Amino acid sequence: MKKSIYGLTFEQLSAFLIENGQKKFRAAQVWDWLYKKRVTQFADMKNVNSECIELLESNFAIQTLEQAVKQESADGTIKFLFKMQDGNLIETVLMTFPYGHSVCVTTQVGCNIGCSFCASGLLKKNRDLDAGEIVEQIMNVQHHLDAKGTDERVSHIVVMGIGEPFDNYSNLMNFLRVVNDQKGLMIGARHITVSTSGLTPKIREFAEENIQINLAVSLHAPNNELRTRIMKINRAYPIEKLMDAIDYYLETTNRRITFEYILLNDVNDHVAEAEQLAKLLHNKRHLSYVNLIPYNPVDEHDQYTRSEPENIKKFYETLKKRGINCGVRLEQGTDIDAACGQLRSKQIKKEKAV
Ligand code: SAH
Ligand code: SF4
Repeated sequence: MKKSIYGLTFEQLSAFLIENGQKKFRAAQVWDWLYKKRVTQFADMKNVNSECIELLESNFAIQTLEQAVKQESADGTIKFLFKMQDGNLIETVLMTFPYGHSVCVTTQVGCNIGCSFCASGLLKKNRDLDAGEIVEQIMNVQHHLDAKGTDERVSHIVVMGIGEPFDNYSNLMNFLRVVNDQKGLMIGARHITVSTSGLTPKIREFAEENIQINLAVSLHAPNNELRTRIMKINRAYPIEKLMDAIDYYLETTNRRITFEYILLNDVNDHVAEAEQLAKLLHNKRHLSYVNLIPYNPVDEHDQYTRSEPENIKKFYETLKKRGINCGVRLEQGTDIDAACGQLRSKQIKKEKAV
């Protein structure tokens, strides 16, 4: 099976071409065809010599994902289910906002972190996606937009699909460098957000990358007892260690960080937890934003339900009163199972049933 050429950074492609006797300028031409003109076959790269085309064809594929399902929601959110070359299924979501088109990408087939509320964690990680398979999700959505003929671009990316991105770090970084590159898709680093369940060594490593990508941390609870109950990763990386790594990130980058907090009815949504959360973030409140996320019900996790609107409001107001920047996430595509991992898990159940 050939790997997708989208997984190579510009520097990696240049090195490959030069090693194989091609001129230096070829890499720029090939990237132009891939990311500006967006062809889907090497043979369509008209000003590239045939020897180079053959070299590319015999080493890489352009498309390795096959679209299995495309569901459109009433609010315009589109969910794509892709089949990879090895038969594994992954999902990608396109959300359209007034500020642009945002794509949510998957980084692993399944997830080993196994958070108690998440559909993606229902299935253990089968494998990591390579960088090309992650970039290809963006390209597929871009090709979908191109087909409309209205010159619309993917402008934002959230790495919040299936998987723990920091458990697939080098592929994640290659993906980020490719989509951010000025010679390619030019998606601004400030328009890209990576979400992690809190792998502290990787938060530190990420702080040292010379790239302005936004970081979001799935916190979901303000104390260890509660956090361990809903996210077992908290045993390995408890809140003190997590906050140390976050402080390091903030000192190193001086960039704002987002804390994600799913509101689970009568579990973590009391005013007491809001107070505790405000205290926890007090010393970094000038660089913090708390994203309150109404829980998206998952059939297999029926011990959880969504918080009552009045409790969401109280939680929000308590944080505000304590000087914490926060907002309640707008929902998109709930009618099409757009919450992470849900479409995939339903499709797998359907396939098993037939
Ligand atoms: N593994 C990473 C990124 C993918 S999950 C992480 O956990 O951060 C992206 C976000 O969706 C996380 O904040 C996660 O906690 C949240 N999420 C998972 N299941 C959800 C559900 N059923 N309803 C609402 N948010 C959910
Ligand atoms: Fe994995 Fe994130 Fe789901 Fe937790 S919330 S199981 S880390 S995908």
